[in-house]
Amino acid sequence: MENTLAFARALDAKDPLNQFRSRFYIPQHNGIDAVYLTGNSLGLQPRSAETYIKQELEDWARLGVEGHFDARKPWMPYHEQFAQQLASLTGSLPDEVVAMNQLTVNLHLLMVSFYRPTKQRFKIICEAKAFPSDQYAIESQVKFHGFDPAEAIVEVAPRAGEHTLRQEDILAAINQHGAQTALVLFGGVNYYTGQVLDMPGITIAAHEAGALVGFDLAHAAGNIALRLHDWQVDFACWCSYKYLNSGPGGVAGAFVHEKHITDTSVPRFAGWWGYRKDTRFKMEKGFDPIPTAEGWQLSNAPVLSMAAHKASLDIFEEAGWEKLEAKRLQQNVFLDQVLKEASERFHGQLEIITPTETAQRGCQVSMLVHKNGRSVFDNLTKAGVIADWREPDVIRIAPVPLYNSFEDIWKFGHLLQEAAG
Ligand SMILES: *Cc1c(COP(=O)(O)O)cnc(C)c1O
Repeated sequence: MENTLAFARALDAKDPLNQFRSRFYIPQHNGIDAVYLTGNSLGLQPRSAETYIKQELEDWARLGVEGHFDARKPWMPYHEQFAQQLASLTGSLPDEVVAMNQLTVNLHLLMVSFYRPTKQRFKIICEAKAFPSDQYAIESQVKFHGFDPAEAIVEVAPRAGEHTLRQEDILAAINQHGAQTALVLFGGVNYYTGQVLDMPGITIAAHEAGALVGFDLAHAAGNIALRLHDWQVDFACWCSYKYLNSGPGGVAGAFVHEKHITDTSVPRFAGWWGYRKDTRFKMEKGFDPIPTAEGWQLSNAPVLSMAAHKASLDIFEEAGWEKLEAKRLQQNVFLDQVLKEASERFHGQLEIITPTETAQRGCQVSMLVHKNGRSVFDNLTKAGVIADWREPDVIRIAPVPLYNSFEDIWKFGHLLQEAAG
């Protein structure tokens, strides 16, 4: 790998996915493409999203209520078209996944089912400084069941002077608190550091301790390869507006392992859209759930936002997961080279806190700028880089294989050197 524009362009020319960039709107800066590196925060808009949404608007205008059955993509079963694609993205069976609600809503609904504390087993093991929404969800669930968060929530933190979690420390916490632990719940990819956790390893340890396991996959879905079914994860949820490019506030996803989907002893908060389809409209008393993850649905599907989701997932399918994964790995290597050269200009003030091991990282790289971080970030912004600033001193970037080019990565490195001053 050579950190030159010519080399980056040569990599782009050879990239089998290079035409996918033109399927997206790239935000502009001074009349040219910005260096957009925040696909981990809000994925870009597929150009096709408008066509997909328009089709639903037209069918609504043309058909009114009859669109539930007569729309080109009937709205009644609209969510069903996601099962196969979400299963491929998450390594699940189609019956284990459903597109519904928002991420935090799904986290709550799944905790209703899979956080069932008793006097003996009431603890939740999670990461320290989890994404705020997850912290609030966990704390409020614990309180809802009448437990004290200070006692019930066990947080695993990086060791002093380190930035990421050690698997041995997670396993030690599970070992220490196992007998009192009801649930082990982690972000599969940490939103701050970009660290990918050893999800299968955590799952095995939690199950050996007699606890259930869930993962928040907000930063994993569409970013890294997942095998939720084989890993025996009990539940998971994710949003679709980050790596999945489905638009702000887009419909989220949920996974419930096959072993739980037909178990009627699992409690849940129910709604009519989770009721068996053949008898739903008899509107009878007594909840009779669909024997798939769809049984966790509450409300009828938000078709307009789901249309954008469909546009995006069709692009993922067309690109193919293996090619995306191969390109991501190659982009990682190029990015490392670019960052290594850029960091020389920072004289030790730029520290990459994302693990460099392939298994522990996805698209995202987080860098801690020890001196003048904010002004470095502001200089990058002025130069046309759309990155992400996290207080107090972290810049996050995430080149994504669907629409970021090797040239973007080279440009970022070049502008980072200039931003160093
Ligand atoms: C982005 C993100 C959220 C956001 O939650 P919403 O319910 O979609 O607003 C929650 N948790 C994690 C870990 C995230 O990265």
